[in-house]
Amino acid sequence: MQGIVTNIQRFSIHDGPGIRTTVFLKGCNLRCFWCHNPETWSPKPELQIFPNKCIGCGACLEVCPQGAHTLIEGQKHFNRELCVACGKCAEICYAESLILVGDTMTVDDVMAEVLADRAFYATSGGGVTLSGGEPALQFDFTYAILARSKAEGLHTAIETDANYVWERLEKLLEVTDLVMTDIKHMDPDIHRAVTGVSNERIIANHRKLMATDRPVIFRTPVVPAVNATVEDISAIAAYIRELGELRAASGSPAPPPTLDLLPFHRLAGDKYRSLGLDYKAKDFVAPTKEEMAEFVRVAAEYGIEVQSR
Ligand code: SF4
Ligand code: SF4
Repeated sequence: MQGIVTNIQRFSIHDGPGIRTTVFLKGCNLRCFWCHNPETWSPKPELQIFPNKCIGCGACLEVCPQGAHTLIEGQKHFNRELCVACGKCAEICYAESLILVGDTMTVDDVMAEVLADRAFYATSGGGVTLSGGEPALQFDFTYAILARSKAEGLHTAIETDANYVWERLEKLLEVTDLVMTDIKHMDPDIHRAVTGVSNERIIANHRKLMATDRPVIFRTPVVPAVNATVEDISAIAAYIRELGELRAASGSPAPPPTLDLLPFHRLAGDKYRSLGLDYKAKDFVAPTKEEMAEFVRVAAEYGIEVQSR
């Protein structure tokens, strides 16, 4: 079985407990306009271009079967519409000006990388995390990696936007120890405006998740002009509290959900440019430490466990 993998990040300490390997799958069904990982949006491999690294050797012009790289008056140009993401130019670009993002990998390929660090998982309480994009979009591949990881005795986690068919998400829980998910805004219209989809199915899935025995961590990005206000964070905290009450009422043995507030940053600008995408958050200013501390304080008043980075 094969899937398209954006990246495999070893020694990750932010994607669940302990030291973990995070497998980022390609393809997402949201379009959060500030997204820190736009290279995960498309389900297909695609070429990233970093012109400032180009040394002008011209090798890419010679190998591209599509003629996507050209020289016009001494300037190198790239026509993305012609590119079929074969990766030939990226293979020969030693300057790393061209990177093909999206590797076709088998479950065995992924597991070989995951298992290379099993000694670290054992000593740190870590394991493997499937992230994206939205890992449920590659359901069979995600399930197979999680199942193999469980069979190897590893702790497993998924990061999901919960905007997917519940029966499929529920099936993934068979092989998942920890769920990380989020909500960007409580207003369905604003949620649609900033992510491309309403939050209604997400909320319905969160409620169903509460009746299961899997721990759930909410990881909400705090983004200017989206939700970086006391009112918006309060609404999200009230939602998490309500979910905790639902969980208790359901008789689930799992702990109440917790909330991580993750500050927006502007480091993704290069990625947007490399993919020919418009970075609509380019002028946003990241929340300060003081602002984040205030949001944590406000959210904690709702009686939920909150932290920030
Ligand atoms: S192969 Fe890389 S370094 Fe050479 S011209 Fe193409 S982009 Fe520039
Ligand atoms: S990835 Fe393939 S088609 Fe696209 S520019 Fe490079 S060589 Fe051409």
